[in-house]
Amino acid sequence: MPIGQPGFERWLECREKTCCSHYVVYPTGDEIIALGATLEMALDTLVTPLSSGKAPTAYRLDADDPAFRLALTRTRLTADEAPACGFLMRMHDGAARCGLGVNRPRACKTYPLVYADGELRIDARGCTCGPWRSDQLDGVAAFAQLHAATSAHARYSEVVARWNVDLECAGPVPTPSFLRTSRGRTAHER
Ligand code: SF4
Ligand code: SF4
Repeated sequence: MPIGQPGFERWLECREKTCCSHYVVYPTGDEIIALGATLEMALDTLVTPLSSGKAPTAYRLDADDPAFRLALTRTRLTADEAPACGFLMRMHDGAARCGLGVNRPRACKTYPLVYADGELRIDARGCTCGPWRSDQLDGVAAFAQLHAATSAHARYSEVVARWNVDLECAGPVPTPSFLRTSRGRTAHER
């Protein structure tokens, strides 16, 4: 069992995983690179750039262009269902399962825990499986996970901010291969 993952047992047992269609997941740059290497997947099938306004991890490829963020690619499990994470799988017994398992992004591992105003809170708006209780979380270890996720997000934001400043100083730059993908839409964030 991954140590300290908030609500791991509940996540493992959950057959619905509605949170995986409610939110768009924005991995950090290091997670995108690691996932591509682990899964041996082309990065432009793994992630999709979505227009994202002024989010701290929104990058530009030209100073006059809108900003985009890289999100886990989404798809529809069936024609009748809402778009969901592209790694959400429906098993033969109808249960929804995460195809990334232990490799899923930190944002997925820490959900539904948030840290705000000096305290840990549960924000499970994307969950339709009933209320969460604090005893379903391991407070100390969960905080460590959330701290790691927040630090990684801050590092990624710094890298992207530097990229955007360099772009403004130097003008248009050659596009990294993993950013050369189609452009999308704005959506909820996990
Ligand atoms: S947050 Fe809710 S919907 Fe998502 S995996 Fe956990 S129990 Fe299931
Ligand atoms: S990576 Fe897994 S846990 Fe995260 S949204 Fe996708 S299916 Fe759900």
